[in-house]
Amino acid sequence: MSCDFLALANLGVQGLHPYQAGKPVDELERELGISDIVKLASNENPLPLSEQVKAAITAELSELSRYPDANGYHLKQALASEYGVTAEQITLGNGSNDVLELLARAYVSTQDEVIFAQYAFVVYPLVTQAIGAKAVAVPAKDWGHDLDAMRAAITEHTRMIFIANPNNPTGTFLASADILAFLEQVPENIVVVLDEAYFEYVEQSERADSINWLQRFPNLVVTRTFSKAYGLAALRVGYAISSPAIADILNRVRQPFNCNSVALAAACAALQDKQYLAESVALNQQGMEDLVAFFEQHNLAYIASKGNFITFDTGRDGQQVYQALLALGVIVRPIGGYGMPAHLRVSIGTTAENQKFKTALAQVLAL
Ligand SMILES: *Cc1c(COP(=O)(O)O)cnc(C)c1O
Repeated sequence: MSCDFLALANLGVQGLHPYQAGKPVDELERELGISDIVKLASNENPLPLSEQVKAAITAELSELSRYPDANGYHLKQALASEYGVTAEQITLGNGSNDVLELLARAYVSTQDEVIFAQYAFVVYPLVTQAIGAKAVAVPAKDWGHDLDAMRAAITEHTRMIFIANPNNPTGTFLASADILAFLEQVPENIVVVLDEAYFEYVEQSERADSINWLQRFPNLVVTRTFSKAYGLAALRVGYAISSPAIADILNRVRQPFNCNSVALAAACAALQDKQYLAESVALNQQGMEDLVAFFEQHNLAYIASKGNFITFDTGRDGQQVYQALLALGVIVRPIGGYGMPAHLRVSIGTTAENQKFKTALAQVLAL
């Protein structure tokens, strides 16, 4: 008889399900034999790569036989000056996903509890369960975080709290003052991770001053990414900004070369290209208004979003609508795995992509 390799796995890992990524365009091409497919499934930036980033990548190609700078010196310097922090406060990751996992691995043990909101980003339960720690999913309020209930869920075993702002997949947003009031009430021995993957899409006046809060809250960790508004999803670069003490710990568990040299060079260039960032945000705002108007026109309930995506209620089995949209060459994201079986999440695309989505959805739902 052969070994039961499921039973041999760590207890937490045994119960895990693999992360469900958005369907790749060429996979659908292979399956349906169609072209002209629109992917609005992974909250990617619909604009092509910035020219400055392209140049930086090309320049890096001659160095690819060398290991990358394990400490990401140039990118850390650039981020430090951008945000008014020191390089010692920055942890680079292979996407911010990497950083979220490092945080859990460094600070959470089997007997600990990790708090996050119902409908919050799926990576939080994933990294928690992989460790075998107890995941505490706090019921949502209006699809978003119920910070009072999250505070009430804190026990002596709580070691980490994840907050996504804006949240994915619901797009919900917490006011800066509410997060601040929450931080004031969390004991300092609990690490609070504020995941701001969509920070750049939030209007200036509404953005949390989260980096400045680090002075007051040494247990706070802010994570951000180059995958969304900066348009580098494929290159996998994200980062945490924290107290130097936490960054030092993360550095101990981090893989030495977790950010490759092409990604490091591209991220440095992306950070300088403010015009690309502004165009990305403007295009997103336009597309968001367009889709919101469409949902309202057709009486489809949607969840107001501050991200680069919007989640709406199909009023029927979301999986079926998803499949029907696929057949028309439009890839969106079903979120039944989040306990939202009637909803679909659609990323904001270019004007043409949004149009194709609207036409396909109208056809599928017979609007
Ligand atoms: C997309 C996303 C991330 C980051 O993804 P990376 O590509 O790994 O940087 C992190 N948090 C949330 C909530 C996201 O939606």
